[in-house]
Amino acid sequence: MSHPLSDRINSLPVSQTLAMAAKARELKTAGKDIISLSLGEPDFNTPDFIKDAAIEAINQDYNSYTPVDGYVELKEAICVKFKRDNNLDYNPKQIVVSTGAKQSIANIAQVLLNPGDDVLLPAPYWVSYSAIATLCEANYIEIPSTIETDFKITPAQLEAAITPRTKMIFFNSPNNPSGTIYTEAEYKALAVVLEKHPQIFILSDEIYEHINYGTKPFSFAAIENMYDRTITVNGLAKAFAMTGWRVGYIGAPEWIAKACTKMQGQITSGTNCIAQRAAITAVLANPSKVKFMVDEFKNRREMVLNLLGEIDGFKLNIPDGAFYVFPDISAFFGKIIKGKSINNANDFSMLLLEEANVATVTGEAFGAPNCVRLSYAASVEQLQEAIKRIKKLLS
Ligand code: GLU
Repeated sequence: MSHPLSDRINSLPVSQTLAMAAKARELKTAGKDIISLSLGEPDFNTPDFIKDAAIEAINQDYNSYTPVDGYVELKEAICVKFKRDNNLDYNPKQIVVSTGAKQSIANIAQVLLNPGDDVLLPAPYWVSYSAIATLCEANYIEIPSTIETDFKITPAQLEAAITPRTKMIFFNSPNNPSGTIYTEAEYKALAVVLEKHPQIFILSDEIYEHINYGTKPFSFAAIENMYDRTITVNGLAKAFAMTGWRVGYIGAPEWIAKACTKMQGQITSGTNCIAQRAAITAVLANPSKVKFMVDEFKNRREMVLNLLGEIDGFKLNIPDGAFYVFPDISAFFGKIIKGKSINNANDFSMLLLEEANVATVTGEAFGAPNCVRLSYAASVEQLQEAIKRIKKLLS
């Protein structure tokens, strides 16, 4: 029986990252020995100095509603962080704290997009970008890239994708799922194109900023002429191992920040008080305090690339940041493995789940149908065992 749900929800795809994580959990509960490399979630605990700040906030009776756009002390701390890490000048009126960067992105889309607007998505892109655009009845236009160019788009591709209907571009570096980091020069070359089209706003998702292995991430808003039409998105989840705390934020032109606050005021109100107090401590901490996690991710990246490199059919590049590898596995298309026809990345990802008990996420969800995403935010033992199983299955 079909239920009388709205067209809006019926048109919305399920988040494939969360769906795969839920499936892995379900199978584990049912007794299967599943290794989940599906969810992009640091496997570290939140550092003690941040937990202590949260405990202190509870003991100090922070229980009341918070200002919709966040505690002023947190917004001031975020301004300090933007200056320190990104050389960006924002004042607290330009900051809105949200329940995760995902809500920040949804807010921005809701306040800027009208039905029929076009949103440019350099592919691969994070699964929720397309869904959020769809919710706003906007069209998302993919700009494809391949592993051969390290999943980067060119200024010429950007230019060719722009139409008079283009209202926004969702830009993400370091990128989920590819780990790609654009250099400052590459940002500037894309900005030259955008300068010719002043109607386009840039959502610059910098959530993986601190998880980089060499190339220093840059910010769109740091480019002259881009600041006034860029919304810089960031959050606490990845760098501070705080995924479940749900704290994201934006730095934006004041009129956009005001609109996001209005939107949030009708949907969720201010973010959790305890998480916000802890966030003040996290944001003001020197990034060197969490570097041990980045160092560990870097070691795991080397190991995963070496081990996967031993499997015929995995085409790999070296991701510069985040904690994912995104191999091109199209060499397996058209093959039959364990009686199963592998015709696309969905089939391949399901094969790994069903026959190797390893959960990954299909590249289709990220607009890259030749690839699968493996998160290496898992223990060394789990990663070694997962890849051993994959190797055995495919050889
Ligand atoms: N951003 C993470 C991922 O891509 C968390 C899951 C989600 O919200 O999509 O795995």
